[in-house]
Amino acid sequence: MSTCDFCTEPATWDTKTIMGPWANTCDRHYAEYGTAPSTNLADAEAKRNRSDDDRRADLYAALDTGDLDAAMDAIGDGDIFEYL
Ligand SMILES: [Zn+2]
Repeated sequence: MSTCDFCTEPATWDTKTIMGPWANTCDRHYAEYGTAPSTNLADAEAKRNRSDDDRRADLYAALDTGDLDAAMDAIGDGDIFEYL
């Protein structure tokens, strides 16, 4: 887990700041300096840690609706052929 670039708290966001450069920030400093685009690190971590069954369910749901972007998102950095 990385640390906030503005204090010693654990970073919960990877965000572009209102000053321009990207930074890892805690919730407090995200509220102060964060702007779009940004990634909630806890969400990203949860996504990485999902089970294969969850990924497969998301993949099939996305394929049902023909949403290829969502399908690719569902498998993350996995190999689509492992889920079909
Ligand atoms: Zn901070």
